[in-house]
Amino acid sequence: MSKKKTASAIATELPAQMPCPCQSGRLYRDCCEPAISGKKPASTAEKLMRSRYSAFALGLASYLIDTLAPERRQPGERGLLKRQFRSTRWTGLRIINVQAGGEQDSTGTVEFEALYISAQEPGRLHERSRFRRDGKGRWYYVDGEANFLPGPTV
Ligand SMILES: [Zn+2]
Repeated sequence: MSKKKTASAIATELPAQMPCPCQSGRLYRDCCEPAISGKKPASTAEKLMRSRYSAFALGLASYLIDTLAPERRQPGERGLLKRQFRSTRWTGLRIINVQAGGEQDSTGTVEFEALYISAQEPGRLHERSRFRRDGKGRWYYVDGEANFLPGPTV
């Protein structure tokens, strides 16, 4: 019993000590983990965007659904995400531009480029995402103009 408990404790602590998948250069536990775990919800649109990228990279469907604008959630959302987790590996993120989305704003736009590998093929997602903050200060992803392009440019 105690052995089992230790193993699961390690499993939950290990990811917190790795470099954050959003490539901020910080540890996961000091970057996106507080938002993803619910300890400290993302205070800006960019932080939410980064934490959603990390959730995609780590395969965390619940967080992605929770941070999607309620009117955008579809009944099959979780299954769709899980299929995507299996087919796509996210390998890099670069924030290009941020408009508004600060702690005093009610909307914000984040332009980014994310690298991925799907079916052995490297790809690049260029997206301008729109975010909205509710009356309680919680940020949500609303939608985005996305372009899927071949291969990484880096
Ligand atoms: Zn991060």
